Amino acid sequence: MTETAKVADINCPYCDKPARFVSSREFYGRDYGTNLYVCTLCDARVGTHGRGKTPLGTLANGNLRNLRKMCHARIDPLWKSRKMSRKAVYMRLQKVMELTSEEAHIGMFNEHQCQKLIAIFERGEFWND
Ligand SMILES: [Zn+2]
Repeated sequence: MTETAKVADINCPYCDKPARFVSSREFYGRDYGTNLYVCTLCDARVGTHGRGKTPLGTLANGNLRNLRKMCHARIDPLWKSRKMSRKAVYMRLQKVMELTSEEAHIGMFNEHQCQKLIAIFERGEFWND
């Protein structure tokens, strides 16, 4: 590690090669006010918090992106309805998924975890104790 090493030293979890750090403008041809880490070879990517370098989670390929979308489609309406706080929903997510607060983010989920959460919703067990 040299001191010139950038924050962009994130490896693609599929091929283990360094991901490319690009702006949304470079990647999509449109400025969404974010950046991305991209592995073209694996069609894997993850966005950042705004224009910063902090990734929102781990790089995801097409299949994992779809699974994460399905998870968001189940989780987000719970707090977006304002019937409960986002915090309460994520505390619950942490409990049913048996994860720490750092791990209980859909952007961090792997395929197995996404499938587990989707199954919990399918069985209507998200709120069961
Ligand atoms: Zn890759």
